[in-house]
Amino acid sequence: MISQKHQALKHYFGYDEFRPQQEEIIDTVLDGRDCLVLMPTGGGKSICYQIPAILKEGIALVISPLIALMKDQVEALKGNGVEAEYLNSTLSAQEQDGVFWKARLGKLKLLYISPERLFAGNTLDHIRNWKISMIAVDESHCISSWGHDFRPEYRQLKILKQVFPGIPVIALTATADRVTRRDIMRQLDMAQSRIFISSFDRPNLSLTVLPGKKRLQQIESFLNKRPRQAGIIYCLSRKTTESVAASLQKLGFRTGCYHAGLPQEIRAGVQEDFLNDNIQIIVATIAFGMGIDKSNVRWVIHYNLPSNVESYYQEIGRAGRDGLQADTVLFYSYQDVIMRQEMIANSEQPAEQKELLMAKLNRIKQYADADICRRRILLSYFNESVLQDCGNCDVCHNPRSRFDGTILAQKALSAVARTDQKIAMTMVIDILRGSRNMNVTRHGYDRLPTFGVGRDVRGDEWADYLGQMLNSGIVDIAYDEGHSLKLNEVSHQVLKKGMKVDLVKFIPLAERKAREEERAPKEKPKKEIIRDALFDRLRQLRKQLADGLRIPPYQVFHDTTLSEMAARKPVSEMQMKQISGVGDEKFRRFGELFISEILLFEKETRRTEKSSKQGDTFLKTMELYNEGFSLEEIAQARNLSPATVLAHLIRLSDDGQPVVLEGLISENARKQIIHALDQLGAGKNDPLKPVYEFLDEQFSYNEIRVAMAIREKSILN
Ligand code: ADP
Ligand code: ZN
Repeated sequence: MISQKHQALKHYFGYDEFRPQQEEIIDTVLDGRDCLVLMPTGGGKSICYQIPAILKEGIALVISPLIALMKDQVEALKGNGVEAEYLNSTLSAQEQDGVFWKARLGKLKLLYISPERLFAGNTLDHIRNWKISMIAVDESHCISSWGHDFRPEYRQLKILKQVFPGIPVIALTATADRVTRRDIMRQLDMAQSRIFISSFDRPNLSLTVLPGKKRLQQIESFLNKRPRQAGIIYCLSRKTTESVAASLQKLGFRTGCYHAGLPQEIRAGVQEDFLNDNIQIIVATIAFGMGIDKSNVRWVIHYNLPSNVESYYQEIGRAGRDGLQADTVLFYSYQDVIMRQEMIANSEQPAEQKELLMAKLNRIKQYADADICRRRILLSYFNESVLQDCGNCDVCHNPRSRFDGTILAQKALSAVARTDQKIAMTMVIDILRGSRNMNVTRHGYDRLPTFGVGRDVRGDEWADYLGQMLNSGIVDIAYDEGHSLKLNEVSHQVLKKGMKVDLVKFIPLAERKAREEERAPKEKPKKEIIRDALFDRLRQLRKQLADGLRIPPYQVFHDTTLSEMAARKPVSEMQMKQISGVGDEKFRRFGELFISEILLFEKETRRTEKSSKQGDTFLKTMELYNEGFSLEEIAQARNLSPATVLAHLIRLSDDGQPVVLEGLISENARKQIIHALDQLGAGKNDPLKPVYEFLDEQFSYNEIRVAMAIREKSILN
């Protein structure tokens, strides 16, 4: 028997199965018990409280910190035929009254509300009189000052348990660390609650770390491979977001810029344009993203190193929420690390907080430096152990090999020592490689014993190794002294004590690219081309509908749903409802429109296919003919009449294909017929009968046709 919750899942959301844990969580809430749900972004938290809310009697309160997110969720629910509303500062008094009325009339299943709003005025007095079925606290890590997004107003939620005794509370978050978790349970007074921790793995996200050099150029080539795909570029500073956005606009990409320094209307407009697929790219500071529910973000780039692994994971988690393949790139340079370190050092925080931030920064740096599968590092950070490499990160694609780089390191360090630690990396490399340029000779560095000792290593290779030495603390850099390299304690160990240095073998960028290209699928099979074309068509239809309804396209259907439609081509109600994401309400509103589009597309492809099939059969005839088979033989082999075969050949010759028709007719016949045609002035499209009769029925119609084609060709040439 199908359970009520499965029915609700299918009817309202159009999904056939629950994801891992969802079902158990729903059962727990339906049983009236509290629970804490830790699931990564995109893991499917919403359904965990939405389904119990639908099934339970009364109204579910959903506490949510972000106004934009509330509106989005409520609209999505309404789109699925669920009675939901929200209360926040954007509503007029009249609209609020409307919501209260609906609640009183029992016409409401979910009410989204911000903590400020909940505790303001007499709202709580109203709500107390309603039948509340459950309380969901979304983004519940905001209650903890240990989490990375503390919101003081969340602290008021402490009294929920007193105000609503016996009502189950479900707290949800994508932040997994233990301290935050404990804090949430303590603050919300949920000691007895069950905890559900999902895997934080997002296997559909590819993970790549690239050296932070020529970033714009690298981004451009990345984007060129992803036409029209939506994505986010995160930058550290407002200024960088503006300059990167401007450069991309200049290159012709539809790009918007978003940071906390912009006026609210502009930010809202940019966000709206992004959600509605009017702009492809957002360049933003971390101010952007919380509350972005767009499911088809196909890539996320970090222009600068994030401050910690949690933020990084949350930010890349905004890509591929629909479960389809999505790509993430992190640009990494030690300059970013230094900048971050300085920001922490100069901030007005207690020493122990600074220490914590430094430690967190160190972890993300280790991640970027790593030469083992990146996903394993990430997941182990979230206390999950993974036994296998993921096969979807840059390290898995380009396995690193290490070698003993002690001698190389010693050469470099000695160059630094002999120049009194006053020179920057480029000059160190010039000395090592023995380049006698002006700067080198002016200082007499070409007379140093280290001059030219590293000739056998290429310049970009040296840069890479010096970068590795910096990252692993074998040498320091003074940004305030013209980026000069400085020796430290470890440097001396290497120079004087022969401490061993392991380096990762350098792979030139060109080689990396070549390997990437090798991995990229070559030509797409025909079936895939057709599917992609249909997907595009459905996407256009979706955009039209969404613009008409003034909602974001993904609220009509998610990309996953469209792509399943494109693959399975449903043409009946039953088939359409089998597509994941097509619930009853969605079908009622959009089903027939999408079916019509699919039918139209099918008709068009059949037509083009037919004409190309025809082309194929003609060519087959030509192939046999050119191999020397006679008309009769070809006719027999191809199960056609000789007249059809001849017609093929003439048509091919007319189309300029290399078919020598002379072999089909004797020279005598050809000459006589052409002579007659000349006399009659008869051409290609004239009837044959007069010619046939004019020639006293001496030659067959086929011979006349062939002679005509030959004559035609000679006139044209
Ligand atoms: P979260 O809030 O955890 O970031 P969402 O609740 O927004 O994630 O869910 C992410 C996406 O996964 C949404 O598009 C949602 O519709 C989809 N989803 C959730 N549960 C299922 C399911 N059981 N089957 C298919 N898709 C699902
Ligand atoms: Zn991997």
